[in-house]
Amino acid sequence: MNRMTQSYSLDEIIDKEKKFIMPTYTRPHVVLTEGKGAILRDLTGNEYIDCVGGIAVNAVGYSHPMVVQAIKEQVDKLMHVSNLYYTVPQVELAEKLVQLTGMSKVFFCNSGAESVEAALKLATRTTGKGGFIAAEGSFHGRTIGALSLTSGHKFRSAFTPLLLKNVKFVRYGDADAIDDAIGDDTAAVVLEPIQGENGVVIPPDGYLKAVRDICTDKKVLLILDEIQTGFGRTGRWFGKDHESVEPDIMTLAKALGAGFPIGAILAREGLEFKAGEHASTFGGNPLACSAALASIRVIESEELVTHSRELGTHLMTLLQDLDGTVVKEIRGRGLMIGIELNKPCADIAAKALERRVLVNCTAERVIRLVPPLVISQKELTTVASVLHDVITA
Ligand SMILES: *Cc1c(COP(=O)(O)O)cnc(C)c1O
Repeated sequence: MNRMTQSYSLDEIIDKEKKFIMPTYTRPHVVLTEGKGAILRDLTGNEYIDCVGGIAVNAVGYSHPMVVQAIKEQVDKLMHVSNLYYTVPQVELAEKLVQLTGMSKVFFCNSGAESVEAALKLATRTTGKGGFIAAEGSFHGRTIGALSLTSGHKFRSAFTPLLLKNVKFVRYGDADAIDDAIGDDTAAVVLEPIQGENGVVIPPDGYLKAVRDICTDKKVLLILDEIQTGFGRTGRWFGKDHESVEPDIMTLAKALGAGFPIGAILAREGLEFKAGEHASTFGGNPLACSAALASIRVIESEELVTHSRELGTHLMTLLQDLDGTVVKEIRGRGLMIGIELNKPCADIAAKALERRVLVNCTAERVIRLVPPLVISQKELTTVASVLHDVITA
């Protein structure tokens, strides 16, 4: 264990956080120090089964030996040189992503919001238009452009007027509403294949396909935000694969680097920035790309996409008989599951933590389960039994 971390008490750490860090986050009083697989350990040695996964990031679990080794080897050689030069991991990862997504070319950045920004720029650059259509309940990130496409009042209200004004919000899951909203100034429609922050909201079957057809018909670009749904989370490689829909641009981040910060957009044939039109100092640096490549190789070799699909179904079965008076709906695809309650769920997450299971409460009333894809059936059995207890208590 890290000596620096051990030398502080829980109270000292909480005090320092209060004193030195802007209070953007409310956190339970737990200091996490290490992890293995789907298990996290805190400062005092307590162990937790993790169903948060760093917010759908740690797909291959904590400290996966192949990812750790790839990072260590790359650190010894080269961390960063900027995009003024070629590096090997960057081209390798680009080729891999093109092969996995069926898209044509990639641009690398460092986070989800940055990839959304890049997608918006590419859409405007391609169409010469600045209008966008997004969905009610959407979440696309916190930078000003991405925030303009994020519908929730709680995310936006302190920051209006936002810079990007030409955004229309339509009901999620309603393709006709998109058809009606498209105008002469529309560059693109931006959608999550499943809404994550909004509480794992799954659109009706055929929705993405219908939107794809409308966009093709009206010559508007379709941007799919796969930041949360990518890399096996939903039981397929990407959310788009459930309906075999090909977007014009897709955004990736979260699980792409399995915990190492990296983001990317991929675009179909013919859509690309020209030299000098977009850039990122850190984007696609050799360390981030090595981490992402190693993570993708683990997802492939351990068949985690199939594992996600099978264990997701298993967990849904375990949760099925949860008390109907408190639980409004349980929905999910693969290991992306939301339990919507008839009341706020923050205290339930707190009670689960006391029982050493980490879950996250999103959209106020939805317990979101997005565990590492390596989680075992046995661990999920414990999770389900703890959730039964804390929800029905
Ligand atoms: C998390 C998320 C983002 C923002 O990603 P950051 O890395 O936090 O900027 C954007 N879109 C979706 C769908 C997300 O889940």
